[in-house]
Amino acid sequence: QQTLAGKVAFVQGGSRGIGAAIVKRLARDGASVVFTYVSSPDKANEVVSAVQQSGGRALAIKADSSDAAAVKQAIDQAAATFGRIDILVNNAGVLALGPIEDFKLEDFDRTVAVNVRSVFVATQEAQRHMGNGGRIITIGSTNADRMPFQGAAAYAMSKAAIVGLTKGLARDLGPRGITVNNVQPGPVDTDMNPADSDFADSLKGLMAVGRYGKAEEIAAFVAHLAGPEAGYITGASLTIDGGFSA
Ligand code: NDP
Repeated sequence: QQTLAGKVAFVQGGSRGIGAAIVKRLARDGASVVFTYVSSPDKANEVVSAVQQSGGRALAIKADSSDAAAVKQAIDQAAATFGRIDILVNNAGVLALGPIEDFKLEDFDRTVAVNVRSVFVATQEAQRHMGNGGRIITIGSTNADRMPFQGAAAYAMSKAAIVGLTKGLARDLGPRGITVNNVQPGPVDTDMNPADSDFADSLKGLMAVGRYGKAEEIAAFVAHLAGPEAGYITGASLTIDGGFSA
């Protein structure tokens, strides 16, 4: 049974990693999925092909999440193509690491633009096309709660900002039957955080389960929150981190 049959989803950042797994999972569950990318057209096309080969519907649009006009245009295009938007997933994110002594302000600003501002912009635009039962899900990070290594203060701040933004947006949209939640993964094997790096070895001891997560595990959680049984979950920051923050 396809729990998202007839639904339309919009995913910011769906060409690689966790976002690509989310696109494929929502499509497998029956949703028509529009997703954005910025630097990987080939990867985006691979995701579209994979979805289509499994009998699903997906459309990729190039739109930089730090560009509010581009995000609005992509959401308007999605709504025009499929009639409305039921599910928004804000997954696009950047991780800028560096010592505090010379961390560049432009990296700070880009972190805020992609990881935080784009979430507000996309929510503002997508909710115009949403009705009762709408779902807004942002991929935050367990680093909002626990930041056990150096050089990632701006990243941790950006993910902590999502905690508050999610609460406020849940209040704004709850009366219309739209839920807003924040999914906080721990280390997940992607281009951003490969499980075979030296850095990964230093993190593995921090997880209760002693291993990295899979993008598909995050996608399964997102699919539940996007589905019809999750209507009483809102304003929540939900951690899926193998016990990283335990
Ligand atoms: P990746 O770097 O592997 O993939 C990032 C995805 O986001 C790509 O599809 C990329 O598109 C897209 N993206 C990045 N910047 C932009 C932008 N400005 N506009 C549009 N799309 C953009 O990251 P992950 O899959 O690892 O991470 C996804 C989310 O999960 C992020 O928000 C991250 O902070 C969060 N997260 C990740 C964890 C991990 O350990 N991997 C842990 C906790 C949270 P393109 O291919 O075109 O570059």
